[in-house]
Amino acid sequence: MIKIACKKNKFIYNVYHITKAFFPNEEIEQKVDEKQESLAALRLPGGSCFSLASEDIRGELESAGDAEALTQEQLIQAEKRAVTRRVYCFLAEETGRTLAWGTLTGVRPTKLAMQMLEAGKNCEEITGFLRDEYFVTEEKAKLSYEIACREKELIGRLNCQGGFSLYVGIPFCPSVCSYCSFSSSPIGEWKDRVEAYLEALIKEIRALGKMAAGRCPDTVYIGGGTPTTLEPDQLARLLSTVDENFDLSRAAEFTVEAGRPDSITEEKLSVLRRFPVTRISINPQTMQQKTLDRVGRKHRAEDVVEAYALARCLGFDNINMDLIAGLPGETAADMEDTLSKIEAMHPDSLTVHALAIKRAAKFGQEGRTMDMHSEITRMVELASESAQRMELKPYYLYRQKNIAGNFENVGYAELEKAGIYNILIMEEKQTILAAGAGASTKILLDSPIRTESGKKIDLVHVENVKNITEYIQRIDEMIERKEEWLWR
Ligand code: SF4
Repeated sequence: MIKIACKKNKFIYNVYHITKAFFPNEEIEQKVDEKQESLAALRLPGGSCFSLASEDIRGELESAGDAEALTQEQLIQAEKRAVTRRVYCFLAEETGRTLAWGTLTGVRPTKLAMQMLEAGKNCEEITGFLRDEYFVTEEKAKLSYEIACREKELIGRLNCQGGFSLYVGIPFCPSVCSYCSFSSSPIGEWKDRVEAYLEALIKEIRALGKMAAGRCPDTVYIGGGTPTTLEPDQLARLLSTVDENFDLSRAAEFTVEAGRPDSITEEKLSVLRRFPVTRISINPQTMQQKTLDRVGRKHRAEDVVEAYALARCLGFDNINMDLIAGLPGETAADMEDTLSKIEAMHPDSLTVHALAIKRAAKFGQEGRTMDMHSEITRMVELASESAQRMELKPYYLYRQKNIAGNFENVGYAELEKAGIYNILIMEEKQTILAAGAGASTKILLDSPIRTESGKKIDLVHVENVKNITEYIQRIDEMIERKEEWLWR
């Protein structure tokens, strides 16, 4: 057991996550004690202790700038950063290890690079800052810069402030994968309610269309779940609702996540072709049959090859594939084999996710954490090499919370085939109108407002309820809650 005690609440998040990244397998007890002397204190299982006094970081705070000139928020950030750095150095020394993303604990480690790029900084300044201030490795610092440049170019083509993107969620799948982190339900169990869900969804899409009158979406993303679990006529009704209620003439991208190959048929793909869908996803996750069986994906690995060939045959020229590194029982050799099969198909983009350790624990693999760490590291490297061979470049990156070892999820693509919506959802640079159970609308405000707690915000989140039955029953309320904020 590791014990953490921080003097201020604002330190605890980073101290906890950095410690967890070094010790993914250890239980951590954390507390905030405003009366304690030290800013942060740690006790490791072997008995090693760490304690940090205010004087210890004075030098670092002074180098952050003139205290008089810094705003309160900048001072808080500088203090937090200094505490995190000191904890990191202690843990690195104790373990003899470093973390690829250094002290960056957030889910969007490329955000800093993006902000600096927008402020006119060059490659050297950005990578140097990430290295020196946050202990990010040279490789990850360069990756951040590279991705930030691509993101900037792609987002720069859109009308970020005045425009918007549309998300539509279908919360059903053919079966539920055991590692699923979305709230998806098996379609078989909801057969009787799918029509009612679709009706509610169509009502919400129409309402959003009215709210967005006079504006064109930059991107449209139909996701879930698996949208292609809908029957062809249902899919057609959904897509024509989008088409009729939004002006898609200037949309840079229209993605439908076909996702599970066992939901794809020629009839459904033909329906998609009748609409201005530009990009689809067919997600193998792995090409190892034993793993597919183990995680409850009730399809054959060959189904992926067949669905992909069918889609190409029907004219889809932008197909993404998702893979997961670290699925239960898989080794780097399995990933290598999967990647060779993916390369044979050559998708236009490839997204590689690392399976969160907490989910791995669900599969009884918690005892293998350190083995898994090196295995997943190798898998992620193999995927990156494979993307390079396919001439796909990294264009977006995010981390899930609690991924031990600070693994990241990376999207690779040819620049013109990149999933722009993926970047928008990460960078929060545009309003995203979202319809469906569990969908989260993000509204970018024209000017910042203060919350009740006094915090300044320029983005408002309006969440739809996750429960499908509740969503259907409370659809009018879901619509009204957005009206309150949109383009006021
Ligand atoms: S296909 Fe995706 S959304 Fe559906 S159950 Fe599996 S992981 Fe969840």
